[in-house]
Amino acid sequence: MSSDQKLDLEFAYTTYQDSCRDLYSPYYYCRRPLGHDGVHAAGFGTGRLRWEHQPNHAPHMLS
Ligand SMILES: [Zn+2]
Repeated sequence: MSSDQKLDLEFAYTTYQDSCRDLYSPYYYCRRPLGHDGVHAAGFGTGRLRWEHQPNHAPHMLS
C-alpha cells in the first residue's frame, strides 16, 4: 500500500472529533488521528498536502 493509500484510509476512519486538526492554512487542517506519528497531512489525490509541525503554530485552532 502506498503512503497515499494509507492516508486515504486513515482519513476515512478518522472523524473530525478524533482528528489531529493541526492547521496548515485556514483551508487545510490535519485529518490524521490525534497523536499520530510523523508528518501532518490533509487533502486527497493531487490536493494531498504533508507538513511538519511548526512549533509556533497554535494547535487545534478550529476546535
Ligand atoms: Zn497531524
